[in-house]
Amino acid sequence: MLDDLRRPEYTGENRCWPCTASNAVLLLLACASVARLLPAKRARRLGVASVLGLVGGATIALRGYLVPGTPRFAPRLVDVLAGEPTRPTEAGSLAGEAADDAGERALDALLAEGVVHAVGDSLHLDERFRSDWRAAMRRVRERDLAPAVSDAAPVPVDVELVEGGDWVVVSAGGPESERWLSRPVAIAEVAAVRALAESGVDPAVRAQSASPLRAFLRECPDCDVELEETTADRCCGSGTSPLSPPDEVLACPACDRYVFRF
Ligand SMILES: [Zn+2]
Repeated sequence: MLDDLRRPEYTGENRCWPCTASNAVLLLLACASVARLLPAKRARRLGVASVLGLVGGATIALRGYLVPGTPRFAPRLVDVLAGEPTRPTEAGSLAGEAADDAGERALDALLAEGVVHAVGDSLHLDERFRSDWRAAMRRVRERDLAPAVSDAAPVPVDVELVEGGDWVVVSAGGPESERWLSRPVAIAEVAAVRALAESGVDPAVRAQSASPLRAFLRECPDCDVELEETTADRCCGSGTSPLSPPDEVLACPACDRYVFRF
């Protein structure tokens, strides 16, 4: 049962220390407020506070964080506290979780339809596909993103734009299925799904293919500014902890978002 509750993407070596620390502080504050302010007898207040502490602590231990949306605000909170500028934060993908061989099947489909070409042991994006994809990105970013994302998703999803449209929250029912896509990632993937459809790629692998294709982006899908290869030195729930080295990422210098993590 514990394994069902555990979220490996936010725990173990993927545990994000800004998330864990900020949630532990919030939990302590909540327990302290309950212990002091709950309108009940002292023994009852302390009882409620310790149950809250136990449940909250277990949640942070198993799931990486307690407060919904922590991976989104914790890095900013830490940046604000440290007096540093907000760093790029990475987002999820339209494809969500997939079978182990899904990536391989997607690559086969991309090669078969000539979307990517294998040259020696490296892969190149077809230049015609690149220009179709860019044209599709231009159209996607000029219109309402939410219906476009729900059209492109491989399964029925609820789509919500948050933080002034900077983030697209995609959910297939229930908070555990929730994924946060940054606006540039959402634009890139929706446009990729459309361009892949035009290239004749099987609908079953389109959304799955959209995510690795982001590695071939040269310009930000939203700003059209040239992307830079850099390192991710802080990103919640995505492998940044004192135990793992920073990842290489493609980031936009204008909007500060990652569009791909290598
Ligand atoms: Zn940008």
